[in-house]
Amino acid sequence: MLLVDSHCHLPLIQAGEAGLEGILARAQTAGVSHMLCVSVDLESYAGVAALARALPQVSASVGVHPNTDQHAREPSIAELVEEGAQDYVVAIGETGLDYFRSDGDLEWQRTRFRHHIRAAREVCKPLIVHCREAASDVIRVLREERAEAVGGVMHCFVDDWDTASAAMDLGFFISLSGIVTFKSATQLQGVAQRVPLERLLVETDAPWLAPVPLRGKQNEPAYVRYTAEYIAALRGELPVEFAAATTRNFHRLFSLPASKLSTQAL
Ligand SMILES: [Zn+2]
Ligand SMILES: [Zn+2]
Repeated sequence: MLLVDSHCHLPLIQAGEAGLEGILARAQTAGVSHMLCVSVDLESYAGVAALARALPQVSASVGVHPNTDQHAREPSIAELVEEGAQDYVVAIGETGLDYFRSDGDLEWQRTRFRHHIRAAREVCKPLIVHCREAASDVIRVLREERAEAVGGVMHCFVDDWDTASAAMDLGFFISLSGIVTFKSATQLQGVAQRVPLERLLVETDAPWLAPVPLRGKQNEPAYVRYTAEYIAALRGELPVEFAAATTRNFHRLFSLPASKLSTQAL
């Protein structure tokens, strides 16, 4: 089985005894050929970039998460463009809107989101969009900022079919995390059955959201396999073919530099 973990936070995983080596070895054993390590703030971005520079099977994104405190260092469009131009940086994000974990006047989140979209358009790289209880505003801002020029992924998708459909109309992919394996996620399971195969990605969002049967444990890239196997069964597809399709989709959306493609069996 050939998989990609389209969204993880490697520096945030408590590595335990075998350390990062152990995490990478377990990923390889599970068939995970590549991991996109996603930035959440500028303070920790250096660590994300260092991993992507050092490891052929890891690439990076640059961005500031919508929940990162509004008083944290705010990236300028120029800064995002400068970092985003590095070849190991394959996307801008994670960005988006999260009305669940922040309250009050959230205009600052929308402004930050707009800046990320403008940077992505300038540097011609896709967006990694986080959306929590903000679907209509996320779609509205993506449209207003003409995000379809670069496209991207709705990561850890948990919204309804209409939102998935609107995002796909803007050229976005739908990425499913371990949440889809949770018993209560019946609406999301319905969406997972309906999204065309050529628009689906899988991710862990590690260290969070470990899929069943590891729900509640710390997540890591190797476990994306459980999510892929679950969705394949749900859709009545062969796990190996489903995995290969999501891996191809990843490479259609994100352009990896040649130095990172040498380790891939495409
Ligand atoms: Zn997120
Ligand atoms: Zn994330």
